[in-house]
Amino acid sequence: MHRTPMYIWRMETPKTPLSINYRIREGLARMAMVARVDEWTKAKASGLNPTQMAILSLLEGRETALGIKDIAAHIGVSQPTATDSVLSLEKKGLVVKRPGLADKRAVSIVLTDDGLAALNHEGGDLGERAVGSLEVLEQEELLLALIKMIRHLQEENAIPPQRMCVTCRFFRPFAHSGSEQPHHCNFVDAAFGQRALRVDCREHEQADPTSRAATWEAFQAG
Ligand code: SF4
Repeated sequence: MHRTPMYIWRMETPKTPLSINYRIREGLARMAMVARVDEWTKAKASGLNPTQMAILSLLEGRETALGIKDIAAHIGVSQPTATDSVLSLEKKGLVVKRPGLADKRAVSIVLTDDGLAALNHEGGDLGERAVGSLEVLEQEELLLALIKMIRHLQEENAIPPQRMCVTCRFFRPFAHSGSEQPHHCNFVDAAFGQRALRVDCREHEQADPTSRAATWEAFQAG
């Protein structure tokens, strides 16, 4: 006799859908898995593991050097894991340790030229291909939705500060309202459009909380 599996009652059906929050999170988890596959592919080409590759990416183009604690928080690993990974990268000559600026006993980790070259290996483009399957407007809407979610988590202090336009002191949302490129970046003194909003900009400087709130309000109103 055919027996119904015990788990069937928990399954989602059109009559008993799980919440959209849950299903979107599931979708994002699938894309995160694709991103991890991409990271493995790219890291393998450089003889590294994804954590080591993530550290190199994080350090790339940063004006302010990061310590082990910052690195661990940014890439979501424990401090011992970050320490081991940095040690391996140092042995390969891809990063160097420098004394901390504020506290000489602390160390800051800096990318070397070889570390930068390792980042430029080809491969790992499944995620970008998936985004490429969207229409232009869909891509823009997705970018805006992601920015909104990331900002929300940052303002809740659930994740470290991210280098996004919407939290940057140089960002002037809709300074050129009505034009194809409505926003303005005071750092480079140039206008840019929604599609060019940055999620991880090396020139980013965090605005103070009051300015961040005002900028977000102007961005939303535009
Ligand atoms: S410096 Fe970078 S993050 Fe800041 S507004 Fe300009 S492009 Fe955006």
